[in-house]
Amino acid sequence: MKIGCPTEIKPQEFRVGLTPNAAREAVSHGHEVIVQSGAGRGAGFEDAAYEEAGARMVGTAEEVFSEAGMIVKVKEPQAGERKMLREGQVLFTYLHLAPDPDQTRDLMDSGVTAIAYETVTDERGGLPLLAPMSEVAGRLAPQTGAWALQKANGGRGVLMGGVPGVGPARVAVIGGGVVGTHAARIAAGMGADVTVLDRSLPRLRHLDEVYAGQFSTRYASAGNTAELVVEADLVIGAVLIPGAAAPKLVSRAQLSEMKPGAVLVDVAIDQGGCFETSKATTHENPIFEVDGIVHYCVANMPGAVPRSATIALGNATMPYMLALADKGWQTACSEDPHLLAGLNVHAGKLTNYAVGRALGIDV
Ligand code: NAD
Repeated sequence: MKIGCPTEIKPQEFRVGLTPNAAREAVSHGHEVIVQSGAGRGAGFEDAAYEEAGARMVGTAEEVFSEAGMIVKVKEPQAGERKMLREGQVLFTYLHLAPDPDQTRDLMDSGVTAIAYETVTDERGGLPLLAPMSEVAGRLAPQTGAWALQKANGGRGVLMGGVPGVGPARVAVIGGGVVGTHAARIAAGMGADVTVLDRSLPRLRHLDEVYAGQFSTRYASAGNTAELVVEADLVIGAVLIPGAAAPKLVSRAQLSEMKPGAVLVDVAIDQGGCFETSKATTHENPIFEVDGIVHYCVANMPGAVPRSATIALGNATMPYMLALADKGWQTACSEDPHLLAGLNVHAGKLTNYAVGRALGIDV
């Protein structure tokens, strides 16, 4: 099969759909890989690395889209890219169709077979192609929180790990799933005094079994959450209620009870945010202050570390990409119900019930 990888054109997107390693793997399976020149540059992969892996570089996105039988990307195709998709072609990328009727309509009109990273499942009920980005955002959260705590950024001027004779920062992580666990591990690794709050007792039991001694756990009752937020130097919001907006767990009124210059990092901002005062920010202007509390609310946190994020995403997508290329999408999806769960659009029809419900389109 001819596998094509264009340069991402969404503003501030520096990741790329195929790493040179993924290209090499596809070539070793007998496939032809076509990469747009410069596609990997934002993630630190030069054209020469792809050429060395056996890929063919082309000058334009048009060449990639017209030649390839499967397009592998990161972000949903933008309007101009959607015009280049065609019947019989496979598109493998993040789509997030539920809030995006225009994209959904264009994909249906194009006749493309679109498989969305975010709806591929695994045998444990997880989302294996979303998890790497949650891991990245989770590990980044204490790093950005530590930066925001510095005086010059409006923070309290507290060092995460303290120093001999001076106590560490107190960190509360609300939500102990993928993001929260990775955030807690890194914050604890920086020497902070970390507590994870969650509403799931099985999750708290698991965290306690695995991480006792590194960080503490508390049940996320409103009372416990309020108590830890008031004591915290840094609060990381990492909750998710699948299919719903994030619940607001810290109100504006609570900010006045917090320590002046404390920091809120709202990782759940892509689901509306879990602090009442959160509003989405960008990497160019990531923080703002409300009532003396610094807020960091970047909706695309992995965009800050496109190289790590690209490699993490590539590791996760590679086996699925190879299965689709080796077997063809019909056989690959019929043999693997978890990959089939990723099928969102085929031959002019929407094929995902949750997206159909959200958009009022028959599936
Ligand atoms: P997850 O499902 O692995 O974990 C969510 C956890 O929240 C679960 O353990 C759940 O029990 C817990 N929870 C739900 N309601 C709660 C409540 N009221 N109080 C305390 N805990 C509660 O999800 P995840 O992959 O860790 O993602 C967490 C959030 O981060 C999501 O909103 C996701 O969209 C977001 N995210 C954002 C970025 C970004 O760049 N900003 C990147 C990746 C993920």
